[in-house]
Amino acid sequence: MGEILVVVEHRQEEVRDITFEMLFKAGELCKEFSHTLTAVVLGGKEEQFIDEVAKRSDNVIYYEDDRLKNFSADLYKEVLNGLIEKTRPFITLIGHSSWGMELAPSLSIKTGYPLATDCVDILIEDGHPKVIRQIYSGKVFSKMSFKESDGYLITVRPGSFQPPEAIDERNGGVIKKDLPGDLPEMRKEFIEFIDSGAGDVDITQADLLVSVGRGIGEAENVEDMKELAERMGGVLACSRPVVDKNWLPKYYQVGTSGKSVKPKVYLAFGISGAFQHLAGITGAGTVIAINKDKKAPIFRVADYGVVDDLFKVADALKEQLKEG
Ligand SMILES: Cc1cc2nc3c(=O)[nH]c(=O)nc-3n(C[C@H](O)[C@H](O)[C@H](O)COP(=O)(O)OP(=O)(O)OC[C@H]3O[C@@H](n4cnc5c(N)ncnc54)[C@H](O)[C@@H]3O)c2cc1C
Repeated sequence: MGEILVVVEHRQEEVRDITFEMLFKAGELCKEFSHTLTAVVLGGKEEQFIDEVAKRSDNVIYYEDDRLKNFSADLYKEVLNGLIEKTRPFITLIGHSSWGMELAPSLSIKTGYPLATDCVDILIEDGHPKVIRQIYSGKVFSKMSFKESDGYLITVRPGSFQPPEAIDERNGGVIKKDLPGDLPEMRKEFIEFIDSGAGDVDITQADLLVSVGRGIGEAENVEDMKELAERMGGVLACSRPVVDKNWLPKYYQVGTSGKSVKPKVYLAFGISGAFQHLAGITGAGTVIAINKDKKAPIFRVADYGVVDDLFKVADALKEQLKEG
């Protein structure tokens, strides 16, 4: 019997969704292979979310120190390395987020454990972990194994697992730990957290989102799509390139570095379906994709798809609404 360790990701006193996804997947593996599920929290004093994590774990190891309240890859690496050296967990899961991308490679070097990044599934075969990763922009799934080791590190792509509403309660005990005394000097310092702000629209509250991607071609087309969204009684949203090109402000952006949305209907116009975008719509009801490329990955998650020019479809919808 081994241990699966889940590194709890949190921000501004709230647990991030990726943590619940990892706890769910780790819980399934622990049940099937009789492993122990341990969540490790590196957090500030008296974090309120500990109970949420304990419900889903067999044990919670809580390093409680205000120096850990905000993420620091250097500091977190040192603390996790100390824990891993002592407990030698079979698998350690970290989110493939801005946290994990910075933390996991250096932790792998420090611990000597092999690392697989950006995994969308985890299997255990003949006692060895294997991971599923997407290659060629999500067009091919590859199954990968690790070099032989007594422990393995995996970063998990957000949106890969869907924890059910009703959880399998484990009610783990919480073991509090102090920061080790012999930490090296840190090269980085947390200065402040700046929220991107809600802006004049809140895409997280809309029931209908008309979301536009790079496929809309130019800034001038944004207004037309906004008008369509409004005529349909919905709200405009977008993918990251639309923000990067300054066609819309950041608060319209859906995805891992934007917002997670949960509309009843999500219309994606000219969005290819990169995983960073799809991770933001896992909570959406019906997904309708309009894309001229029939092989676009968005069609894999869409409930309905239209393979056509998006402007033709937008005009047809406007016509229908006029008639209605
Ligand atoms: C760390 C990191 C974080 C990221 N975070 C996010 C994020 O939060 N949100 C996000 O969206 N992306 C994010 N990205 C970027 C992501 O990887 C993709 O590059 C991005 O989602 C692609 O946006 P897109 O689908 O609009 O553009 P593209 O991938 O360029 O797709 C455009 C699509 O439009 C279609 N198209 C073109 N013209 C037409 C037409 N006339 N009619 C119909 N279809 C047409 C094309 O076939 C194509 O499929 C992130 C990337 C990184 C590295």
